[in-house]
Amino acid sequence: MSTPRRPPRSLGRVQAYLGRCTTGEAVINRDLFGGVTLQGLHGLRTARALQRAGELHGVDLDPAAYLARGKPKTPVVEGQLGFDLELPYFDWVETQAELGLRVVRTAGPRIRTSDLDVLKAELDRDYPVPVSVTLVLDGGWLGSKNSGILAEQLRAADRDVSLVLGAPFDPLDSTLKVAGLRRLLRWSVRTNRKLELLRTGPIGIPAIAAGAKLAAIGLSTSTRHLGGPVARRADGVKPKRSPQVFVPKLLHWQRGSALSRLPDCGCPACAQAGSGLRRFDVAFDSAVPAGVRAAAREHDAHALSSVVHAVTGAADPKEELARLRLDAQELAAEVDIVAPKWLTSWD
Ligand SMILES: [Zn+2]
Repeated sequence: MSTPRRPPRSLGRVQAYLGRCTTGEAVINRDLFGGVTLQGLHGLRTARALQRAGELHGVDLDPAAYLARGKPKTPVVEGQLGFDLELPYFDWVETQAELGLRVVRTAGPRIRTSDLDVLKAELDRDYPVPVSVTLVLDGGWLGSKNSGILAEQLRAADRDVSLVLGAPFDPLDSTLKVAGLRRLLRWSVRTNRKLELLRTGPIGIPAIAAGAKLAAIGLSTSTRHLGGPVARRADGVKPKRSPQVFVPKLLHWQRGSALSRLPDCGCPACAQAGSGLRRFDVAFDSAVPAGVRAAAREHDAHALSSVVHAVTGAADPKEELARLRLDAQELAAEVDIVAPKWLTSWD
């Protein structure tokens, strides 16, 4: 009997990034992917519940302070109020260190494109424990003009970094921005500094094969990048909403209404439901109901983790990924779906 091949040491890990979720969902995803990133204060509460149950392994946190609107407030979390009422503060670094998480991330404000002073300040700040500096960057930072400046700042700072990218739709929507991300990955490989992508999409899969230590892929639209205000349609018409579902053969999410043209899914969640992906071919006048979204997330977790395992467990992960990408491009062309930029422009 041959021993199973281990992935090369250089290969990072893909895990799920979860917004609001139950403790049960966090555990299911942690077990499917080998790890899970939880978001903000809600995530912290879940992490504490898991710690009490002795189930904290594989869990890490994105403080997601960038989601708070307006002036920073002191979040009320049991046992974490500052004693000095004159100086209320919440210390994300201390909190994560106390939990004993594998990585301690800084809170990280959103950094507008080319705001060099804020970028430098984030990269320069001292902390009492080793941290991964959270950089919450607008997608423009990866454009041709700014990605060189960003890489230069990372070189100078020489720290581990957790990256969150922001844009109204897709922060990596051009060949140049994909190239900008690859530039950062090369920096990480050269310097052995850990680059972790948070709140990302399926581009996290090639990223871990190119040097990212971790890619935490969101299982809902709002957790696959940091969005911005989306303009309303000028005619005031509200489009119908249908759930988005991960389609392994496309290496991407698709709206439920497009699923009838795509291969069905045999993941445990779909097999149990009996009707496969067709159950997501539904449209709603307002938000997609929570139950439908939860069912989609369950399918997503199974479908995405099976793709990730196929790549990381392959004898040659890069070759396997190239094959999957080519298949995805062919399928997208066949059913007339616009493929995400990275599928065609990674090389
Ligand atoms: Zn499925």
